[in-house]
Amino acid sequence: MGAEIHKLPMGICNCYLIKEKEVILVDAGPPKQVGKFRTALQKLSTEPHDISLMLITHGHYDHIGSVSEVKALTGCKVAINHREKEWVEQALRPMPPGIGIWGTVMAALMRAMVPFMKFPASSVDIELGDEEFPLQPFGVNGKFIYTPGHTSGSMSLLLETGEAFVGDLAMSSLPMRIGPGMPIFGDDRDTIKASWRLLLDNGAKWIYPAHGNPFSAEVLSKAL
Ligand SMILES: [Zn+2]
Repeated sequence: MGAEIHKLPMGICNCYLIKEKEVILVDAGPPKQVGKFRTALQKLSTEPHDISLMLITHGHYDHIGSVSEVKALTGCKVAINHREKEWVEQALRPMPPGIGIWGTVMAALMRAMVPFMKFPASSVDIELGDEEFPLQPFGVNGKFIYTPGHTSGSMSLLLETGEAFVGDLAMSSLPMRIGPGMPIFGDDRDTIKASWRLLLDNGAKWIYPAHGNPFSAEVLSKAL
């Protein structure tokens, strides 16, 4: 039997709870989401202390804003790629470049919002390299793999059963985009596609983005 997958509504960012032998959280959402997080856990009959590990797909504001409070509530370990560790530890707010016209417009709007994007910093427990990070020691059959392109430190959780939690390596909803595919922000389009290829080659069948609904990985293979 595979893992249970639960989407947690954390403001503008989907966080995911993966329950197998143990419980892992993917991303922490924007700031001030810990109340919603606690309520969602209650509905799932999950105790905060059941969560042993938080995997952060990348260090953007809407994914790390609640790390500090979620960590305090759960006592979980926080893991992020070494390139973006400081973003969590110093509450940095780098803004990604836009991809395409709409992305460029949205990126300019977001840059204007930066002064209002405050959140508490948090310590990081596990600084990840670019090699695969196996999750069996944390009770989940899967691995956290390096999938750069949206940011240079982006990583994705890939379960053995083919579900891939990709952060912003792909997006699938308004106002970001109509239909699933290329994110509207990112460092480099070609690097994003190379990471899609890596996920597909590693057996990804379903893509779970941080913005929008899950979709078939065929969408990505057709767009390569
Ligand atoms: Zn992002």
